[in-house]
Amino acid sequence: HFQPAAAATVPVDYPMTHEKIENPPNTKWFVNNEFVESKTSQWIDLHDPATNNLVTRVPQSTDAELKAAVDAAAAAFPAWRATSLLARQQIMFKFVALIRQHWDRLAASITLEQGKTFGDAKGDVLRGLQVAETACGITTQLTGEVLEVSKDMETRSYREPLGVVAAICPFNFPAMIPLWCLPVATITGNTIVLKPSERDPGACMILAELAKEAGFPAGVVNIVHGSAKTVDFIIDEPRIKAISFVGSDKAGQYIYTRGSEKGKRVQANLGAKNHAAIMPDANRNHAINAIVGAAFGAAGQRCMALSTLVMVGETKEWLPEIAKRAAELNVNGGFEEGADLGPVISPQAREKIEKLIQSGVDEGATLLLDGRGYRPAKYPNGNFVGPTILSNVTTEMECYKEEIFGPVLVCLNVDTLEDAIELINRNKYGNGVAVFTQSGATAGRFQKDIEAGQVGINVPIPVPLATSFSFTGNKASIAGNANYFYGRHGLQFYTQLKTVTSHWRAEDAVATRAKTEMPT
Ligand code: NAD
Repeated sequence: HFQPAAAATVPVDYPMTHEKIENPPNTKWFVNNEFVESKTSQWIDLHDPATNNLVTRVPQSTDAELKAAVDAAAAAFPAWRATSLLARQQIMFKFVALIRQHWDRLAASITLEQGKTFGDAKGDVLRGLQVAETACGITTQLTGEVLEVSKDMETRSYREPLGVVAAICPFNFPAMIPLWCLPVATITGNTIVLKPSERDPGACMILAELAKEAGFPAGVVNIVHGSAKTVDFIIDEPRIKAISFVGSDKAGQYIYTRGSEKGKRVQANLGAKNHAAIMPDANRNHAINAIVGAAFGAAGQRCMALSTLVMVGETKEWLPEIAKRAAELNVNGGFEEGADLGPVISPQAREKIEKLIQSGVDEGATLLLDGRGYRPAKYPNGNFVGPTILSNVTTEMECYKEEIFGPVLVCLNVDTLEDAIELINRNKYGNGVAVFTQSGATAGRFQKDIEAGQVGINVPIPVPLATSFSFTGNKASIAGNANYFYGRHGLQFYTQLKTVTSHWRAEDAVATRAKTEMPT
């Protein structure tokens, strides 16, 4: 078992094992810098995906609790907005240091509640931490513009906070996605009500504790829980000015449409079906390892998972090697040393994945590697699916059209680069895409003609670094306006632009007659 790096100073309240927890405590909610036991009568049981043992019960926050969270955020806003940027920056520096210090503890909560391997969970934390680290540079990022219009007139632009904002997060990145929102929203002067996924809120609760310790004043960060009822409250509450959402198409379209109707600013990242095209001139070894890692890592439960392989020309002959390396992956409980992928989130998710695999078989695909029914010896009750490969898939098949969100790679064959580009562009989604080639000309052509918003060239999961860029999904992978998360666009999302035009002229002090014409 892994030992937390800073064991001497950091208490680990998540066991680094999948052993059954006796009388697990309920998850609390967080308001005004206090952890509070919910008064709800509706609880959502949260199970360890590796064992299906109960880990905690998550409350469906009551109406009074939801209102209290917004009351706290609204009350904290004026003072937080008036807090100097330098003071907010100091808090963010401390928050970053604390996340680093509690890195293992955050990762352990993710492995326990979400199922991904401990090493992968550390990556989940790191990708969020990088957003917080970048937010520390706010003093140069939030500068406005000044235009000297004439000798005595100038226009300046400012970026002002919106007020209370909300975030609604998915289960697959329990630390990263809350951290796509919290640091950017708060450093720009907003206060936030955050709803983690009801399936794994543990990492978020640790982040709340660290936010308090870092010095965020009471009410700036608040955590509520639940599912659709909480989401409806957020949409309907007039004091919430903006909603950040990441998750499935169904919930995202609903939140985007209803939230926009209510006049809120909404950013919404949705589902995906990410393709990789491999060209015969690719570096075979690199391409195969990259594809296997990105298809099956995190049990395929990444919005940037490489779920669809488009094999150009003779690269279809590489399939046996791809299947061999996929079969060698170690499927196990996420705390086990050497585990490459853990279980999927729930028995229902496993059932859906297995159904989609069967639909591929029924529709004529070849089942090259079948991970259904795989159970690691130590975890007979977990929601495991082993790496699965379906080849000879066509675009009409259900397994191609649906987002499987499991460790399943579907493979299609085409003859040329043009065919690959055409096939990929016909797909409704446009989150990520990759091409494997050693030709600059091929890569250039692919990069220009492909419609997906995040392109990897010999890079399987091309998630742009939060230190410098935004997350730029396209087409059906993002709803409505291009309100991207983090980076420059994230700052824009959480701020309102204001321009001030001023006119100071010595002559105005002495003129005695008004002018009525528009200035020309
Ligand atoms: P989900 O839509 O089930 O849940 C996301 C959030 O919405 C949760 O907080 C949940 O409580 C809420 N929710 C769920 N159903 C709802 C409903 N009917 N009405 C209102 N709210 C509802 O998504 P998930 O299963 O947690 O996450 C997986 C999905 O997220 C995948 O489709 C994946 O591609 C997508 N995702 C996308 C990105 C991206 O950046 N494009 C990143 C991560 C995940």
